[in-house]
Parts: sequence; structure tokens; C-alpha cells
Amino acid sequence: MTEGPRFSAEYDGPVAQVYEPVRVRYAPSPTGALHLGGARTALFNYLFARQKSGQFLLRIEDTDRARLKPGSQEQIEEGLQWLGLTWDETPLIQSERKAIYQQAANGLLESGGAYRCFCTPQRLEQMRAEQRARHEPERYDRRCRSIPRAESDRRAATGERFVVRQAIPTGGTTTLQDLVMGTVTFRNDTLDDHVLLKSDGFPTYHLAFAVDDHAMRISHIIRGDGWLPSSPKHLLLFQAFNWLPPAFAHLPLVLGPDKKPLAKRHGAKDVLEYREAGYLPQAVDNFIAFLGWSPGTDQDIFTMEQLIQAFDLSKIQASPAVANLERLDWLNGQFIRRLTPDELATRVASKMPGVPVPALTPLIPLVQERLRTLNDAPEMLRFFFEDPDTHRPEQLIAKGREPAATATALTSAAAALQGLTDWTPESIEAGLRALAERLGWSSRDLFMTLRVAVTGRTVTPPLIESISRLGKDTVLNRLERAARALAGPL
Ligand code: GLU
Repeated sequence: MTEGPRFSAEYDGPVAQVYEPVRVRYAPSPTGALHLGGARTALFNYLFARQKSGQFLLRIEDTDRARLKPGSQEQIEEGLQWLGLTWDETPLIQSERKAIYQQAANGLLESGGAYRCFCTPQRLEQMRAEQRARHEPERYDRRCRSIPRAESDRRAATGERFVVRQAIPTGGTTTLQDLVMGTVTFRNDTLDDHVLLKSDGFPTYHLAFAVDDHAMRISHIIRGDGWLPSSPKHLLLFQAFNWLPPAFAHLPLVLGPDKKPLAKRHGAKDVLEYREAGYLPQAVDNFIAFLGWSPGTDQDIFTMEQLIQAFDLSKIQASPAVANLERLDWLNGQFIRRLTPDELATRVASKMPGVPVPALTPLIPLVQERLRTLNDAPEMLRFFFEDPDTHRPEQLIAKGREPAATATALTSAAAALQGLTDWTPESIEAGLRALAERLGWSSRDLFMTLRVAVTGRTVTPPLIESISRLGKDTVLNRLERAARALAGPL
């Protein structure tokens, strides 16, 4: 990026800017884990960078010391890695750069782009209370802006506490050419002389972000639209530094189905919680990719490579995106179906301690079509590896039948299966259907009772297939155990 004094006092946004090479960043504040909205911002930055053969960088905005959560940076990084959003270069940590921001603030004091404000918190509170009483917007009244520089230096040198504020032009307008929101013009007289450097010497977001985006040679700022109202101040700050600003793309808000900002109460989880709940990262990536963006085609399942190809900043909508979490479940099912039996077995095995992958792989075809999440699999497959418990024998009883009649049906089924000469799904099914007829039961009722006896559950992979794979001895044992349980006290 080239630098130079290219701006007029009336700043109309970058016009002849050179935005190459593309360098973008995800800049989370480490105040918690990576949530879906943050992940979407990161993904859009990542897709844009990869498509343009540029760099995707990570910056940890940890200057607000009161809001820090220990472990949050690690959680965010783990979430990004799980989603496949690998970043380039070493993450920049803002708290390590305090001296650089102070230097930058001093530069602005020199050039007149900023000034020291010595107002006490009490005075500011009183000023705001008066503004509220007059129904005026709460804004700093710029009392310290007229303090002569020599006096300001002297008061600072005596140790008086101060903050540094940005000197916003009092007239004119600032226009942002946003790549998503379009052209937005702000009147400068509506903007606050906001704080750049706090009295503890730490920068505010505004100062640190501008200094770092410049230092990191960021070409495009792709961030949540909560920052749109601050963007004129940010453009003016770049101007005050005499730096070319990056291009801006503000992403639309993500809402829940009730049109309120997406949150936990909608069932939204932090990214790593989705991993724990049995979601595949590909499903989460596809889900968040469509929060405000769409390729304009019918395709709704994308590999990361396809997302990179298809992504287009100009196709991001300006209006809020509504997140429907049922779509995530559907996508997850689709991605689960696309795994090979081995891949799926490996993922399921990690959730079934003690069960080796080779034992799971042949069972995968029985459940693959039925899974919504990976976590559904252990429940569905556990009976292949352990006997179901029989402490609730009442579940075995077919509708409208007596316990004794159900026990007889179970022992008869055991006898019928015992007599089979070949143990194939076909012969098992034929034997059991013939038995249902002999007993005068519908096969549906008989199969449900057998299902509960053999698997301990009412919803399982196909019964005949399961019986065949369990093997004769195991099945006969379980049928007899169930029959005995029914004979005991219910
Ligand atoms: N730390 C800011 C946030 O959490 C980053 C905003 C930006 O990307 O400039 O939203």
C-alpha cells in the first residue's frame, strides 16, 4: 500500500486506493469463546483472503483489561482451527504494543489530530446528566480542546491525569464507501471527540485498531456492522495520521428466528460446543457462510475449496441475516452421509471409549443415513457392544398384551431362531414372520418387543440386520434374559 498526504479536509473515502496484496484480519476481543457470529466474520475474511491469494491474519484485541477472560484466546484459536480457518503469521497481541499506541497518540497530539482532556469523571458525569436533561445526545462538550498546547504539556508533566481525545472536524461530512453497505455519509458535527488513549495509558479500540491495521498493512476491514457508526471516526483517524485507510466491508447482523440478535437463548452454541455436540466443522462452515451471503445459485453444500471459489463480497446482503438452526442440523446430516464408513467410524469411535474403529466400520452403513449428529451414533450402536439393561421390563410388553404372553413370545422367538440352520437376514426374517403368524401377533408388535429385548431401545438400526450381525448366541441370550426379566416382579 502506498502512503501519502492524499486527503482533502472534506474526506470522501478512498478513491484511487491500491488494495493489493489482500491482507485481512480477524480481530476478536478475548472475552469468551468463539461464537457463531464471530466465526462468520472470521470465515468471510478467510474466504476473501484465500480467494485473492492474500493473507488472513489474527489479532487479539485485549486492551480492555477489565473484560478479559483467561483461556479465551486459546478457545478462539481452537475454534478457528476446528473450522479450518488457519491464519498466516504470528497473531498480533495488542496488550504487547502499549508503547506503540502511546507513541501514535503523541504523534496526533503533535499534529493537532488529538488533544489531552483533563476533565474528571465527576465533571463528565455531570455534563452527561445535563445533556440528558436537555434531551441532547451525550457527547463530550470539547471543553479541553481549547487548552493551549503549552499549558496541556505543562499539566501533563505535573502528573495530572488525562485522556487523549480525537479532534473531530466540527463541520463537513465524512463518506464511507462500504463494500457491503454502499455509500454512507455522516455529518461530522454528529460525531463525538472520543477517547483514543485512556488515563491508564491503554488505547481504546479506536486507536489500537487504526494503528494496527496500518502496521499490519490491512487492505480490507471486514467486520460486524456494529462498527458502522464508528466508521466515520475511523476514516477521520486514518486521515489524521495521514495514512491511506483500508477498504471497509461491514457484515450484516445475525438474528435469531424472532428477529433479535442471535444468542444462546436461540439454541446457538459457541463453536467448540458444536464440536462436543457432534457437529462436523464442514456443516458449521456451510451454515455460517450463508448468514448474509449466498452464491446466487441453487447449490447449498460446499467444500471449503468451493466456498473460496464462490465467495463474493458484493453478494453479501446489507440487511440482517436470520439464522435458522434447523438448517445446521440438516447440513450436518448431509455431511455425515458424505463421509466414508471408515471416516465416520473414526469420528464415532472417539465418542465410544473402548470400541475400536475396525469393530465400528462394518456397522456404519446401518446408521449413517439416520444420524443428525455424530452423538446420535453411540446411542444407536451401543447394543452391539454391551447387553442392554433389563431393569425396565415393562418396555418390552407389546401394546395390549400380558407380561406372560410377551415372555412366551420372547422364548418362542428364541426357539425359532435357535432352529435356523443358516443365520442370514432372509432366514431370520422368514422365521420371525412365521412365528408372528403362529402366535397371532402382528409382525410389527412382535418386532417391537424383540427390538427392545435385543437392543434395549425402541429406535434402532434395522432390526433383522442388527440381529444377524449380533450373532446367534448373543441374540438368544438377550431374548432369554428379557423373558426372565418379565417373569420377575414388574
Ligand atoms: N475486537 C473487535 C470486536 O470484537 C474487532 C472489530 C474489528 O474487526 O475491527 O468486534
